[in-house]
Amino acid sequence: MKAVHLEDGRVTIRNVARPKRPAGFALIRMLAAGICNTDLELQRGYYGFRGTPGHEFVGEVVEADTPTLVGKRVVGEINLNCGACEWCVRGLGRHCPKRTVLGIVKHPGAFREFLTLPERNLHIVPASVRTEHAVFTEPLAAACEILDQVKIPKDAPVAVLGDGKLGLLIAQVLHAHGRRVQHFGRHRSKLSITKAAGIETSLTSRLPRKAFDYVVEATGSPDGFKDAVSMTRQRGTVILKSTVHGLVTLDTAPVIVDEITLIGSRCGRFEPALRLLRSGRVRVDAMIFDAFPLDAAPQAFARAAEKGVLKVLLRPYLRLNAANRRRRSPLLRRRKERIHTHKRDREQHSRHRRRTDCSKDHSSRSCKRDSRSRSSRDSRSRRPSRHTRTRGHSSHARIRRTRHTHSHAPRHSIRERRRRTRARHPRKPELHHPNKRVRRRRNRHRR
Ligand SMILES: [Zn+2]
Ligand SMILES: [Zn+2]
Repeated sequence: MKAVHLEDGRVTIRNVARPKRPAGFALIRMLAAGICNTDLELQRGYYGFRGTPGHEFVGEVVEADTPTLVGKRVVGEINLNCGACEWCVRGLGRHCPKRTVLGIVKHPGAFREFLTLPERNLHIVPASVRTEHAVFTEPLAAACEILDQVKIPKDAPVAVLGDGKLGLLIAQVLHAHGRRVQHFGRHRSKLSITKAAGIETSLTSRLPRKAFDYVVEATGSPDGFKDAVSMTRQRGTVILKSTVHGLVTLDTAPVIVDEITLIGSRCGRFEPALRLLRSGRVRVDAMIFDAFPLDAAPQAFARAAEKGVLKVLLRPYLRLNAANRRRRSPLLRRRKERIHTHKRDREQHSRHRRRTDCSKDHSSRSCKRDSRSRSSRDSRSRRPSRHTRTRGHSSHARIRRTRHTHSHAPRHSIRERRRRTRARHPRKPELHHPNKRVRRRRNRHRR
């Protein structure tokens, strides 16, 4: 089987033996995995890592001691604990001193075709949650951990500092739980994701001083800590989420004078994260920027390290054929384009209606006001020329006089029309089914 190998900052693909399943463990076929900042840090050489990285994944159980688990879609907690020590008994196996960590400490990670994890680490993914969304369970659990650690009152103002992947999730989680969140970040494009969820957002160029009782620091930069402290009110709480490597210089005076509580926060329980994903109250779709097959892991790592790129997925069953290459363009940009063309269609139609009192709905196909400027039919025609537009209007008026349903648009063959429909509604990577026969049936038209 194929496995990603990381050594001295280089990402390669190796052919390795399928892992042996110890008792109490499950053998899992990886369906999708996410590249996290930790993985990029491992690549940069932190922890002296060597081996297969990856800890955010969704998989299908192939073999397990518990027969009911087999065939189920699962996500897995990343800390493999002893189950017997003081911490494990208290249900805090995440702090077990003997623990190993999937893809980080002494347990090969999820960026390979098959992996093993203890059955007690696994959680079944609800059927309504899509595989590529369930990849976010682990970072979402880390965001939910804040509410497990700190009792934040409903009316208290909370600031989330940082608009990276974790910051975006934290702001959405706190907002979904009814807290008054203000999200600070450096990128308008990233903040637009939380803004769409109804969260108040601001750029970090103007940070308020002593304004919040609770500040979550998720910038991932050494300066974030100082900013977080300066934004916190007297006797307030700073929750530290970003692991910064190297030393952070800390001026303890404001912390002591204002009696600020500092709380470190890391991994969390998976149950609340899966509940949130099922409820649809956290939007992760806009955060997926790209998907690569396992063979293309080096490119996937490079893409994930690019500026402004959020989540990049690895999907072993994704084929890099022409259709996929088209799909690999950033999802966000495509969605914006669609909204834009829809708006333009509506404007064009209202102008056209004023001139011709057409009673059709603007999206109606039978209205032939101008088949060429209907941008939603052909996304390549960015802006129709004036010539086309005027011709469209006059020709429509002429058609109306005879019969409304008559069309001057060229009638394409059924094959061509299908091709156009497919180009307009590209298939989701979800259809890359692990079952070979199903996959072949769904991909038939691509050959
Ligand atoms: Zn991670
Ligand atoms: Zn333990």
